[in-house]
Amino acid sequence: MQITQNSTLHQTMTSWRHWLHQHPELSFQEKLTSDYIADILKQHRIEIHRGLAGTGIVATVHGTQPGKSIGLRADMDALPLQENNTFAHRSRHDGIMHACGHDGHSSMLLGAAVYLQTHNDFAGTVHFIFQPAEEGDGGGRVMVEEGLFEKFPCTAVFGMHNWPGLPVGTFAVHDKEVMAAVDTIIIDITGRGGHAAMPDQLIDPVLTAAQIICALQSIVSRNLSAVDTSQAAVISITAINAGTASNVMPDQVQLKGTLRYFDNDIGNRIKIRIKEIVEHTCKAMGASGKLQIKQGYPATINTPEHAKQCVAAATQLVGGESVQRNLPPSMGAEDFAYLLNACDGAYIWIGNGAGQGSCMLHNDHYDFNDDILPLGASYWIALVHSLLKHSSAG
Ligand SMILES: [Zn+2]
Ligand SMILES: [Zn+2]
Repeated sequence: MQITQNSTLHQTMTSWRHWLHQHPELSFQEKLTSDYIADILKQHRIEIHRGLAGTGIVATVHGTQPGKSIGLRADMDALPLQENNTFAHRSRHDGIMHACGHDGHSSMLLGAAVYLQTHNDFAGTVHFIFQPAEEGDGGGRVMVEEGLFEKFPCTAVFGMHNWPGLPVGTFAVHDKEVMAAVDTIIIDITGRGGHAAMPDQLIDPVLTAAQIICALQSIVSRNLSAVDTSQAAVISITAINAGTASNVMPDQVQLKGTLRYFDNDIGNRIKIRIKEIVEHTCKAMGASGKLQIKQGYPATINTPEHAKQCVAAATQLVGGESVQRNLPPSMGAEDFAYLLNACDGAYIWIGNGAGQGSCMLHNDHYDFNDDILPLGASYWIALVHSLLKHSSAG
């Protein structure tokens, strides 16, 4: 059941991956991508449903016996980034680039679907979910809201992301927390501007902002446990917008930042502290503050039982020593969280290696590693065969 390096399917997946890399499209605009994937599925006589979240595709393969249904998901969108690679399969779409490897994810899932269509000696049904808009617009959320799991009921759903720096031939599986929740913080501070030489007649929003920025950093260090990893959190203020001249005090300052955490109760506790700090610091300084916290992706949390199944499938392929179990989760975010909030399942990382092109995700020199296409597709196939065993096979 393992697709080997240099097999025909490896070469075919590589050609799909290069085509997708050459034709990147932004979130919810994956028209060419969706048509390309749908055409390949149709050529292989695989049943497809189109239109969830616009460009989403769900392809279905039935086993030779009835049984449970599971979902396997890949993302299809690219990033608004100018590619700086010079190889032949570089992006042909100016200012857009597959810098997160979603071209590879789609190709591996397609490879697994094509293989399983002709090797369907399993009991049950597999739904292959090709989702739009992972990069910030929540295509996964929209698919769920538009009835993904009502139209295609799944007992569990699985996701996989390539991970640069993790060696080729290895996987990483987390029992619970994998990726963090992300919220955006916007703070508008209003004072009273005027001549900067006469601050006694003004209300200084810049000094107020500085105090708020420092005080916000006390939340993680003074309100959360230093040893309880479920309380891990990050607050980063990343933008300060105010003023134009050295001798004019502005009326207003706007701060923007990001908040990351894994546990919703911890997230709520942090948000209360942010509100208190903004409100009371502004009051102490005579200014006024308006706080907005825009909720982003929730945390991606595996169900331990399904994480264990992922470990078993990956172990079959690479051996237990190449399935890392103790990597810390990432403070990055992932919209597979919406699928995991609606259905049990697990999301794992596959090593993209440390060679050329395997710089961190979202870098303009990044490239998905074609060498791992067979391993990724084989993982999906192993997972299907182990989860949807024939009853005679136990
Ligand atoms: Zn990304
Ligand atoms: Zn990604």
